Amino acid sequence: MAGMKAQRIGVFGGTFDPPHVGHLILAAEAQDQLRLDRLLWVLTPDPPHKQDQSISPLSIRMKLLLAAIGDNPSFELCRVDMERPGPHYAVDTVQILKGQFPSSEIYYLIGGDSLHDLPTWHQPQRLIHLIDGLGVMRRPGDEVDLRELEQKIPGLTVKVCFIEAPLLEISARQIRQRISAGRAYRYYVPPAVYRLIEELGIYHLPFSSRQEAS
Ligand code: ATP
Repeated sequence: MAGMKAQRIGVFGGTFDPPHVGHLILAAEAQDQLRLDRLLWVLTPDPPHKQDQSISPLSIRMKLLLAAIGDNPSFELCRVDMERPGPHYAVDTVQILKGQFPSSEIYYLIGGDSLHDLPTWHQPQRLIHLIDGLGVMRRPGDEVDLRELEQKIPGLTVKVCFIEAPLLEISARQIRQRISAGRAYRYYVPPAVYRLIEELGIYHLPFSSRQEAS
């Protein structure tokens, strides 16, 4: 219809084990700066690039994610990857979402570390072609060289929109380590996530028994 603007949808995929304030700040800044009408949080059951880690059960991560985003009406849990067999490649997720929202614009959101790793993702060029924009929030220690990335994924640069935000040295792994070591972690996660972690006693096992390499 003439004059009708396409809805702008943000897609934010992750393991969210647990969701932390880095995720929420990225999501909220991206929503603001890219003028997103809604933001879909895509919980990945078994991320292809984290096969070597022990990841909390999906049901727990879903509870944590719902607790993290529940008080924001424009944030939604997207079950698309939870409802299909793996491997859960972002390119397939986006293809499905484009089918579900044919007249919307899709903005995929990632941190700078994920942008650096993008060439190793499944069909990165097709992913870039499918989306209308790639919202990137830089992360301490990431190594983003757009010119080098453009050579590996032609067409990438025009899709990248850097999100202006402070660099946040916060990761889910670091929070899991803090909890298992009995260190302070409360304000690294939203209050509802903190309450749930405490109530369920998640991540409190000694770090070594989670079989993660540091
Ligand atoms: P882990 O430490 O377990 O690897 P994580 O903190 O990186 O987890 P994920 O669920 O793997 O969290 O991340 C989902 C997305 O959020 C990724 O694109 C990642 O780059 C981005 N992200 C996570 N934390 C930050 C942060 N502090 N700053 C910018 N981007 C972030």
